[in-house]
Amino acid sequence: MQIERIETYPLLYRLPEAYGDANGYKRYRTSYLIRIITRSGIEGWGEVIDWLPTLDKGFRERIIPFLLGKLATNRVALVDVISKWHQRSAAGISMALTEIVAKAAGMSVCQLWGGMIHPAIPVYASFQSYTEREDWMQQSIMNVTKQVESGFTKVKVKIGGKAIRDDQKHIEALMKTLPEEIQVAVDANQSYDLASAAKWNCLFSRYANWMWLEEPMPMERTEEYVKLRAALSIPLAGGENLVRCAQFLPLYKQGAIDIAQPDLLHTEGIEDFRTHLQIARQFGFRVSPHSFDGGLARLYTMFAQSCLLAWTKMDAEPIEPVEWDVMENPFTYLFPVHLSNGKVKLPDGIGIGVEPNWEIINAMRWDGSAYA
Ligand code: MG
Repeated sequence: MQIERIETYPLLYRLPEAYGDANGYKRYRTSYLIRIITRSGIEGWGEVIDWLPTLDKGFRERIIPFLLGKLATNRVALVDVISKWHQRSAAGISMALTEIVAKAAGMSVCQLWGGMIHPAIPVYASFQSYTEREDWMQQSIMNVTKQVESGFTKVKVKIGGKAIRDDQKHIEALMKTLPEEIQVAVDANQSYDLASAAKWNCLFSRYANWMWLEEPMPMERTEEYVKLRAALSIPLAGGENLVRCAQFLPLYKQGAIDIAQPDLLHTEGIEDFRTHLQIARQFGFRVSPHSFDGGLARLYTMFAQSCLLAWTKMDAEPIEPVEWDVMENPFTYLFPVHLSNGKVKLPDGIGIGVEPNWEIINAMRWDGSAYA
């Protein structure tokens, strides 16, 4: 089980039209895939998200030389070393080494983790609501309507990037357009203060089909989250940028959120990510993982969610939904899965049970040129 070879696939897609959230516009999407191959020929795939030049140099000069010749079965120790150098790279390595062990055991990743409890995972359509066009509101409503018509029953849209009056006009128009069985989350990407966030409650109280308000304020403002949660008529969600489980503890202990949203690519690996999910369960909170970048990371996120016991028996759906990026992004289809009516039927073959789409990998190889 010695690691013999590591291949890397930096992928870049320049967006023909920028889209964005309260943090600004995205003009490209990337993925950095890694394939680790053992001496006996077992291979595992991992995925990292970061600036491609940084990853390229880091893997070539430090991470690959460190891993070659090491035992793939020593996953926890290897990932711990790499996480001290570069947390995001460690997350990708943890995926590849997990798949190798599962394949060596003749099992699926979920069997390795104790067995799949939920074979189909609900996903919500996640939008970047802003474009540079004058008619961004109409464009956003049209995009959401199209995805709802294609079968999604849950959507997440952005707020916080425009004046509150304009954002509320957009969301109100959207709510009037959507059938009332469609559930809606709004995400402010930490752009408000308490007073601005509280201004949304009036609109929230007029509709019943909200999923949550996501990250209205910076996540370190725990006490203000507690106050907002007490005043708000809908659930509060957040935590996509928190790296360690310990960072969630003040939120749980003080009752600052209703739904935790860890992101696998922002944690220190799949073991840590699964611990995030378990801790949310231990504290009795819902956990609806964030997963905006990366088709493979999202697949691992759904595997982890599928192995998690239900939060409650009272919900119509036995497990909380995972984010599904519906914006133009070819990397959504890097690892094909079956999506229908807002649910993904998970592959159950050996390892991750699916092969990457080589057409996308070959077409999107980054040529080393500058991008911004
Ligand atoms: Mg968010």
